[in-house]
Amino acid sequence: MSDATAKKEERRKFQAIRGTRDLLPPETALWNRVEQTAHEVFATFGYGEIRPPIFEPTELFARAVGGETDIVSKEMYSFEDRDDSSISLRPEATASVCRAYIEHGMQILPQPVKLYYTGPMFRRERPQKGRYRQFYQIGAEVLGGTDAPAIDAEVIEMLMTYFDKVGLHGATLYINSIGHNAENCRRGYVAQLKAALEKVKDQLGPDSQRRIDTNPLRVLDSKLESEQAIIATLPHIADHLCDDCKAHYAAVKRQLEIRGVLYEENWRLVRGLDYYMRTTFEITAPGLGSQNAVCGGGRYDGLVELLGGPPTKGIGFAIGEDRLILSLQESGKGQAQQGRDVYIAWMGEHAYAAAIRAAKDLRNAGFSVELPPVEQKFGKALGQADKLGAKYALILGDNEVSEALWTLKTLSTGEQQKLPEPELIDYLKRQQ
Ligand code: AMP
Repeated sequence: MSDATAKKEERRKFQAIRGTRDLLPPETALWNRVEQTAHEVFATFGYGEIRPPIFEPTELFARAVGGETDIVSKEMYSFEDRDDSSISLRPEATASVCRAYIEHGMQILPQPVKLYYTGPMFRRERPQKGRYRQFYQIGAEVLGGTDAPAIDAEVIEMLMTYFDKVGLHGATLYINSIGHNAENCRRGYVAQLKAALEKVKDQLGPDSQRRIDTNPLRVLDSKLESEQAIIATLPHIADHLCDDCKAHYAAVKRQLEIRGVLYEENWRLVRGLDYYMRTTFEITAPGLGSQNAVCGGGRYDGLVELLGGPPTKGIGFAIGEDRLILSLQESGKGQAQQGRDVYIAWMGEHAYAAAIRAAKDLRNAGFSVELPPVEQKFGKALGQADKLGAKYALILGDNEVSEALWTLKTLSTGEQQKLPEPELIDYLKRQQ
């Protein structure tokens, strides 16, 4: 390497890796609010938080998500650990939650076990608006107990309650039932679907053509404009459900109605893996462009068993937190509170001691306070307070200290008033 190249290398500016990003203030205040609301709402439905690790054995995801899915075959960040085992950054968390349920013998707890999580997921997708390689999900799973339709409905009710509390408006809930993996139900349907697809194969794009053999249900997911008219002519799964699955689906819809949850049916909403069954759902939100799904979920009664556990009912969902935040911002609901409550403009040594005391008391009372580390002229201090979006400036000069009367300036109106020190906090509290 020449000296010049070495110098250039040294000066190289580092950037976040493509598809990842820094979440910064003030936006992170909105992230905190969204997560805090999840903690609060999910707790009212009896869910407890689980924090699984961010990496797991590659084999766990291969088995749970499916080796033939795009997620596992193309998008996972996998690496060899020093002991030669293969490890992957989690592309989703349902697999981990089911692994934890088995590993900790949670089937002996009162059923169902209701768990939720928040955190980053990793998929090597093509980045675009609302699609990242490190993205965040807020998800919940109900494991064990029965598959009573009321459980499906309550999971969805909780989601819609959450979206409402967080201020997401204009969300649409789509539901479907994909039956179960039996000849008189989904397997029969898939055979018919395959036959119908073979007939129109020439008119489909290469992805869909490939899926006719590997995963015909996934063709229904296609967003390709040129395929839409053809897909509309394909057989519907609702006409091929067995009596039990039909009854379950009807009961889920009834249960949603009792709970006042509005839904639309979408027969094309599928999950391409065998252990998914019956209820599937998706929620779209405005302001997101083509990546408008803000949540996906469904019932997966076979998954725990597939991972080596006992036969266990399961249903869950994952909310795309990045997209939820985007949609809130687009609708103007995402205004994060910025700025300080109080900027302390102090001058003089005596005033500084009083300023430190005031900062401590105000912070203890829950106010956010900026205490400049060096003395400033009042004019400059007030300018700084404005720039930081402070609501009040507490002016402390030697006069104020000797009179024991502090000056509080409301920055939006310019009004000033004198307050004795002990009254300051009470006064500010009354103004909130
Ligand atoms: P899935 O785990 O694929 O069912 O996705 C559940 C939700 O996570 C989706 O509805 C999206 O809101 C979100 N999501 C999935 N992949 C990404 C990604 N690459 N970037 C941002 N959000 C994503």
